Amino acid sequence: MKKKRSVTKTAYTLADLKGWREVQPPIRLGVLGDPVAHSLSPQMQNAALKHCKIDMQYTRFHILPDELRDALDRIRKLVFIGVNLTIPHKIAAVEFLDSAEENVKKIGAVNVLNLESGKLRGFNTDGRGFSRAVREEFSVDLRDLRVMILGAGGAARAISLQCAKENCERLVIANGTFEKGQKLADSLRDLFSGPRVLGPVPRLQAIPWEERAFQFQIANVDLVVNATPVGLNRGDLSPIPARLLAPHVMVYDTIYSEKRTPLVSAAIEAGARAANGLSMLLHQGALAFEIWFKHEAPLEVMRKAIR
Ligand code: NAP
Repeated sequence: MKKKRSVTKTAYTLADLKGWREVQPPIRLGVLGDPVAHSLSPQMQNAALKHCKIDMQYTRFHILPDELRDALDRIRKLVFIGVNLTIPHKIAAVEFLDSAEENVKKIGAVNVLNLESGKLRGFNTDGRGFSRAVREEFSVDLRDLRVMILGAGGAARAISLQCAKENCERLVIANGTFEKGQKLADSLRDLFSGPRVLGPVPRLQAIPWEERAFQFQIANVDLVVNATPVGLNRGDLSPIPARLLAPHVMVYDTIYSEKRTPLVSAAIEAGARAANGLSMLLHQGALAFEIWFKHEAPLEVMRKAIR
């Protein structure tokens, strides 16, 4: 007999985790965030589960920052497969892990947890997801690019490490708090000791968040990546105005929204190629699915679910 589908909530809370009640299909995966209502992960992962005939569902958990430790303790005791972490938990969760892959330690942020025998192991799929997204959007590999990244938070750290590991030609980090960008650059210096020579500009560099600095760098980079939330809120301006952009650059905005982000609009106005973060969301999610189920994710099904 076909099992009856239960009515499920749009977002569960810590109180729900404490008094956990099974629904149909059973919830075995989810995303923890605050806010979390906007997350597209449930529609993407549920489409994949359905396609693969896996009888479980993925849902949202609205967990406040001071509830994270408690929420993860509850999840350890339930029969979950794993969870994703989003804003603001990616950095805070690192200290609550039982184990982690090497790049979680290096990045200091985690976006995928896998539960095995009551232990939580952390992974970070943002960097690899970004790399696949860039290849898909612009038909080019990071190793062939001079990259300027805006931001030095969790996403920027994952992306910068990926650029470094793939031996990109050049990496420039621009951050509002300059010292944070400098610290990130310093942490990657040993990965940039190779012999690539580019003329007068350094291969790895932190720059201040200033128009003049942007203007100089645009002439010396191929890819500009926004890894800040600038553009997320209505009324936000582009972090780099159109007049500073140029047709030779590719622009990747990690923000995903239905409408063009201000940076994507500025890039198009400048005659540059641009993409938003939907493809990164897709690929980091597909990599998470593969960690949880140890088989290939149905990429096209997932892509269709978020478009
Ligand atoms: P985070 O850790 O909070 O870092 C935010 C960064 O943005 C910091 O470097 C911060 O600079 C900078 N910033 C914040 N407000 C700014 C402003 N008004 N002007 C200039 N810089 C500003 O956040 P995160 O987790 O890295 O996320 C950053 C963005 O990446 C978010 O928009 C998120 O949507 C996106 N993201 C997308 C995906 C995807 O799959 N597409 C995955 C992960 C993240 P300071 O150091 O000076 O504070």
